[in-house]
Formats: sequence, structure tokens, C-alpha cells
Amino acid sequence: MKGTGTQQLAQENERLRRDEKMLRLLCETSSSAFIYYNYLEDRFETMANWDHFFDFSISNMEDLSKLYDRVEEQYEIPLREGLFIEKQKRDRESFEIKLKDRRLYIEVEVNVVYDSDGKPTDKIIRFKDVTKLTAQKDELTYMAYYDTLTGLYNRNYFVRLLGEFLRRAEEETKKVAVMFMDFDDFRRVNDGMGIIAGDELVQLFGQYLAGLMNSNVVISHFSTDIYCIAIYDPCGVRSVDMIYRVIRERLKKPFKMMDGQEVTMTVSVGVSEYPEAAMGTLELINCAEIVMFKAKSRGKDKIQYFDGAILEEFLQTVTIQNKLKEVVFEQNFTMYFQPQYYAGSGKLRGVEALIRWRDNKGDMISPSVFIPIAEKNGTIVPIGNWVIEKSVQTYAQWRDKYHYPLVLSLNVSAVQCKKRGFIDCLMKILEKYDVSPGEIEIEVTETILIDDFSYISEQLNELKQTGVRISLDDFGTGFSSLSYLKGLPIDTLKIDKTFVDTLLTDKNTKIITESIIYMVKRLGYETVAEGVETKEQFQYLKELECDMIQGYYMGRPMPAQGIADILEKLTMKVG
Ligand code: C2E
Ligand code: CA
Ligand code: CA
Repeated sequence: MKGTGTQQLAQENERLRRDEKMLRLLCETSSSAFIYYNYLEDRFETMANWDHFFDFSISNMEDLSKLYDRVEEQYEIPLREGLFIEKQKRDRESFEIKLKDRRLYIEVEVNVVYDSDGKPTDKIIRFKDVTKLTAQKDELTYMAYYDTLTGLYNRNYFVRLLGEFLRRAEEETKKVAVMFMDFDDFRRVNDGMGIIAGDELVQLFGQYLAGLMNSNVVISHFSTDIYCIAIYDPCGVRSVDMIYRVIRERLKKPFKMMDGQEVTMTVSVGVSEYPEAAMGTLELINCAEIVMFKAKSRGKDKIQYFDGAILEEFLQTVTIQNKLKEVVFEQNFTMYFQPQYYAGSGKLRGVEALIRWRDNKGDMISPSVFIPIAEKNGTIVPIGNWVIEKSVQTYAQWRDKYHYPLVLSLNVSAVQCKKRGFIDCLMKILEKYDVSPGEIEIEVTETILIDDFSYISEQLNELKQTGVRISLDDFGTGFSSLSYLKGLPIDTLKIDKTFVDTLLTDKNTKIITESIIYMVKRLGYETVAEGVETKEQFQYLKELECDMIQGYYMGRPMPAQGIADILEKLTMKVG
């Protein structure tokens, strides 16, 4: 009996030792720390990785208060309650706490063991370090809402916040404004100073904008150099106008870059408002963006409020852009020609080639609508080449058939004329149809001179040397002054229709036109009046000794056959 008793005891001891070893191993390899509490003995024990978390140990109930002292205030009550879950008759609880003086997030798990009578017997509290995990979670949340460069909201989250504004505005019948803001000439910084400097500027301005945010004004960094602002119930200090003025005031001062350089910037802003412009988030942003482009085209550093007409114009542009992609030159385009006469003798001087476009549905689209669009997207270059080739070809046919001396006037857009190789291309076409440069007149508008006067006057001089005549179109509508023109190799000035229109009714126009013609003749240029519609206008211009007349009164733009008919009659008379 005794022998088996001792044996049993030895076995029991062995088992306990094994258990203890296992427990120790478990504890040592665990990254967690534990508090063990025995209810019967009212005994506390701290185990495993305890030192990683705390620099005190716990051996009785009072020591627990040290624990409460260590956690950030908002975690104290949850911690107290969590540790005494047996009072709520639960056996398991887990929650997170954060320490006060260290950046340490801890997941606390409490397990209580009850006996068969439902009395708690043991409690084990586990502390697990979840700092890394929490940091990753925080970063993910941050990245989901914020733009890392500027600290402003990112595009997605901005759209969400705007959506919330719109819901609230519907309930409270309030307005919401969206400001779409884009740096002017950002490329100047990016190309001139490098992308890093560009980023720095975006960041500095973003940080400034962040200071304007409040619960009713949310601001986002939308993309590269674009920021979007949503304003709930825009009025008073948070009215669009006020915010714009504040921002503009800031932009008057330069931004100090890390390398010591100072950079100034301007922005173009488009504004749309719920509910007038649109009801949905993306529509509102789109509307604001579209009108922002208008602000740019009005000369930048401006604000443009939403206006239905701008939207329509934009849609028309888009439609025409799409149609331009499909256009088959020979099929959709055709050339019309408008005759030009000498005012004095009434003789035919030449024709101006004017393009006509009939789209696939048969609708006519005016060149004054599609040419500016083609200029913007670059299609003007192939269109312009087609115009030259087609017109010169037609001209050569008339000449070969009627031998009547004519000047062919060709409208050449600034984009086309500035392109290197333009002159070569023109000369090749002239050679191909055996037309001499002296028979050709190139019409350019004053806008061509705007951005690069010296390059363009060089180009025009080169053109002039080939023998081609140069005519300045739409004179009087732009900025050119007569003294400015002196340096340019111009043969002819075309006095714009707007002058001719009011010539006989408006005293000022009359004086201006008279003096223009007088001065221009003194400078040695020829003058053409365009848009002459009545006999009275014609008579009056003739009296003023305007050299040439073009307009509906003498002849409308017509297909090539119309000009052929005129030439037929003229040469018959001669013959
Ligand atoms: P523009 O060069 O000033 O051409 C004169 C415009 O006035 C033409 O309009 C012509 O049809 C119109 N016109 C002529 N006489 C009268 C008149 O007595 N009364 C009225 N109300 N209008 C008159 P169109 O053909 O619609 O062309 C408009 C503009 O489109 C042109 O203005 C020109 O800037 C541009 N354009 C036309 N064809 C071409 C082209 O082949 N190439 C380029 N780059 N531009 C072109
Ligand atoms: Ca013209
Ligand atoms: Ca004109």
C-alpha cells in the first residue's frame, strides 16, 4: 500500500514538474504578459513578458491601482471594469488600452474560471502588445482619408464629405458651394525648378489651405496642382468671395522654398453651387472644373462663377472635338471663295478661300466655331494643309483656264503658321501646282503676335522673302496699334467688319475708320474693308480711298464653280 502511495506521489510530482516546465516554456516564449489571480488565496502573480510592459509588479489588490495610473485617461474606466468581469458574471472579456507615457497599445484579455457553484476560482489577465498593428491600422485609415503630401483630405474622402454636405443641405434647405482651384502655369515651376520644387509648392499651399478648414469648410488636394473646397451654407466669412479674397491675399506673398528660393503663384478658380448648378457631388465638381477653364481663358488669376452658357459652350466644344475626330476631309470639307474687288475700278482683284464643313448628318458647322477648337487640339494643322492644297489646286485650274490675274487669299491660323516647316510645306504645294508665291496672300490675325512677337516677325519676314503677300486680318479688333505694325512685313490691312457695320451710324467709328485708312495708306499698306453689305457703305469707303472691298454687297462666299462663272463672264467681255 505504502509503496504504491509513494509511487503515486512520485508520479504526481513528475507530472507537476512537467506541467510547470511546460508553463514556464509557454510563458518565456510568449510575447505577452500575464497576471494570475487566485481567489481562494487572494494571491496575485505576474508572469512571462511582464517587464516589457511595466516596471512594477503586482502582488495584491492595491498594486492594481498602479496599472490604472499608467493608462491614458479614457482607458481607465474600461480597464477597471474589464478587470472585474466576474462581478458582471462573465468569464471572458477583451479590450484595448494605451499607456500614458509610452506609445504602447495593449490588448487586454481577461479569463475567469468558476467552480461548480458558480464561484470564481482563478483569473488570468493577458497583456498583448498590439502597437504595430494599431499603427498599421492608423496609417491605413489616414491614407484612406488624407493626402499624404499636404495633409488635406484626399479626393475620395472629399467626395464623401461633399455628399454629406448635400444631404444636410437638402434637409435644411441650404446651399453648398464647390470651388475648383488650379495653379496657373504650374508647368513653369515643374519644368523650371523640378518636380520636387513643384511638390514642395503644392505642399506649402496645401498647408496654408488646411488652416482655412472648419466644420463647414472642407478642403482637399484633388490632384497634382488642383485643390477643391466645399463650403456648407456659404455666407459671411465663409462665402466664396471671402475665401477667394483671403486665398488671393496669401498668394500675393511668395512661398519660401527649402533651397531659399521664393516662388509666387496665382490660381484660377471655378465655382458651382448646389442646387443651382447641379444636385450631385460629381456633377457639382465637374461644373466647377468646366467654369475654371473659362477663368483660365479669361486670362488666369481669376474666379469664374457657374453659368449655364459656359456649360453649353463647353458641351458644344466637346461635341465638335468628337466630330472632328471622325471628319473625312474630302467628304466633309469643301472650299468656298469670296470675291474681292478694287474699290476704284470695280475690277476683280482676287478671292479669299473660306472653309465649309458639312458633318455626316448634313448640318453646316461654321468655321468661326470649329476653327478655334481645331486650333486648341492641334487638328488645325492637317486641316490648314488641306485648305492650302485644295485652294491652290482650284486656283491653278482657274488660271490655266481663264488666264485672269487673281490674288488667292488664304487664312492661316497662328498655330499653323508658327509650326516649323510651314513655309517649306507651302512652297512645295505652290511648286506642285506651278503657282508663283506672288499670286498668294496669307491672312494672319493679330492674335498671332501675342505670345512670341520676335519669333513670329522672323517667320513672317522669311515668308515675305519668298514673295508671298501678307495681310493682317480683322484689323481693329485686337490690340495692335499702327506704330506697332511698322516693324512687320505687311502688305495689306483688312479692316474688320465691326467697323464697316457702324461706319455710317456711329460718329466715333467713322472718325476712327477714316483715320485708320488715312494712316495706313501713309504707311504704304493697302486696305481692304470686309463685310461691306450695302451700297452706301461701299460708296463711302470708296470716297475714303479704301483700296479694296469685300462683302455680301459685291459677292458672297461661293463654291469654286461660282468664281469660275464670274471669270467666264469677265474673260468673255475681254475676249
Ligand atoms: P474671316 O477671315 O474674317 O472671314 C470673313 C468672314 O466674314 C467669313 O465668314 C465671311 O463669310 C464673312 N463675310 C464676308 N462678307 C460678309 C458680309 O458682307 N456680311 C457678313 N455678315 N459676313 C461676311 P466665315 O466664312 O464664316 O469664316 C469665319 C472665320 O473663320 C473667318 O473669318 C476665319 O477667321 C475663319 N476661317 C474660315 N476659313 C478658314 C480657313 O480655311 N482657315 C482658317 N485658319 N480660318 C478660316
Ligand atoms: Ca480672312
Ligand atoms: Ca476678317
